[in-house]
Amino acid sequence: MRKHLFAANWKMYKTPDESTAFIERLSKLLPANTRAEVAIFPSTPSLPAAVAAVKGTAIAIGAQNVHWLDAGAYTGETSPTMLLALGVTHVLIGHSERRQYFNESDTTVNLKLKSALTHKLVPIVCVGEHLVEREAGRTANVLELQVSLALEGLDPTLAAPLVFAYEPVWAIGTGRTATPEIAEDAHKLIRAAIARSLGNDLAQSTRILYGGSVKPDNAGSLCCLSDVDGALVGGASLDPNSFAEIIANATG
Ligand code: PEP
Repeated sequence: MRKHLFAANWKMYKTPDESTAFIERLSKLLPANTRAEVAIFPSTPSLPAAVAAVKGTAIAIGAQNVHWLDAGAYTGETSPTMLLALGVTHVLIGHSERRQYFNESDTTVNLKLKSALTHKLVPIVCVGEHLVEREAGRTANVLELQVSLALEGLDPTLAAPLVFAYEPVWAIGTGRTATPEIAEDAHKLIRAAIARSLGNDLAQSTRILYGGSVKPDNAGSLCCLSDVDGALVGGASLDPNSFAEIIANATG
């Protein structure tokens, strides 16, 4: 019932020309009848080239960040209306690198999420515990708090497009991956927290992606789990062959 989604987070990599070349190659590698959704999140300057390159394909383009207001004196920020004007359809919210380096907080995640849904952007809200929190037995508390604060005051009638990504911080860009058991447990906790905020029907229909050192050789075992609905891929999404292989191995 939940369609798998594979999202490529390119972080601060790839120029517009490199983005176009990647998308041209990827669209040749993806089987025409793939049942999964695919979305690419280039850097902001590469968004127009990426939107142009996906025309005629089923690939969607998302931004890595968004402000919650439509306009204002906020130097360096991009508004949801600006993204929509470019043809962007998806947005990452609360990635751990933004929480760690750019003061993203549960409060701004909540504001951005409400704004994205109001503007009909598909939001992928990233949550996940640090290693010290896992080792202290606090994973459940951290995830429940992040999810409930992200969803605070959200209008459930707007929430259908909502996507979460479970991204244990200790697994991002480290080569360490959650075991299938760890991933499945965390996804169940997140789904239960969504149910408490938005009700069981929305919890069952909300997709929860796994992210953290997903590679072609572990994608099959992580993405076949009953509560895992696809992957958010960083490093291994920078090469079209490896990203296509991840999708093939996870859906095959
Ligand atoms: C990410 O940036 O969201 C991510 C999961 O990165 P990586 O796949 O490189 O761990």
